[in-house]
Amino acid sequence: MLDLHCHILPGIDDGAQNMEDSLDLARKAVSQGITHILCTPHHHNGTYTNHKADVIVKVAELQRELDLRGIPLTLFEGQEVRIFPEILEEIKKEDILFCDMEDRYLLIEFPSREAPNYALNLLGELVAEGKIPIIVHPERNGTFIKTPNKLIDYLELGCLAQITAPSIVGRFGKTIQETAEKMVEHNLVQMVASDAHHVKKRTFYMKEAFEVIQNHFGQEKVELFQQTAKDVLNGDDVLKPSIERITEKKKFWRF
Ligand code: FE
Repeated sequence: MLDLHCHILPGIDDGAQNMEDSLDLARKAVSQGITHILCTPHHHNGTYTNHKADVIVKVAELQRELDLRGIPLTLFEGQEVRIFPEILEEIKKEDILFCDMEDRYLLIEFPSREAPNYALNLLGELVAEGKIPIIVHPERNGTFIKTPNKLIDYLELGCLAQITAPSIVGRFGKTIQETAEKMVEHNLVQMVASDAHHVKKRTFYMKEAFEVIQNHFGQEKVELFQQTAKDVLNGDDVLKPSIERITEKKKFWRF
């Protein structure tokens, strides 16, 4: 199993604080059946800035520690990039890490309350440059919780969206869980990843999330999500099942 979103690198964001935390996360990942992790520290989110060159060094260091201990996990370099107006310039300056070697897919985080009004234009510009933004955890964003169909505008541009495993198993509460389920059901998200930060406080739940997806939406969806994760890491095209608009159930009042 692949995990495309994880704060496993030690001491550079609000994830693992030291090597011991990182190794705990790594062992937990292995116990979940995870074989490859895209290391995605926060970048440019107002609190943490993790430049491409620094992330590459940190990943190599942690990989060495894993190999020394025989922990069977392969790491790749990435970033969780908070949306900011100068992203294109930063890409041109080679300070942004992508999910793949072809520099096609990148993780984009929106502020938790809303989708900024410049977001649609900006992500459109990225797509025009051949980049494919993957919007992370839309089910935890205020705008998309209120109106999940607003995500469709971004998907129609060519963006993808990634749900967080703990959301769909209910670790962030009922509303987020229901939003996550609706998004999976209607093909508004194309993959699942852990966004794990800490082995106790915010762990993987990947195995559990795939169990929920399997039980509610079937094996085909599980396989599609897993294939999409592979395709993203390889920089290949992904299969996108057609998007269905979410319609609210009508309420009938008897009195
Ligand atoms: Fe994250």
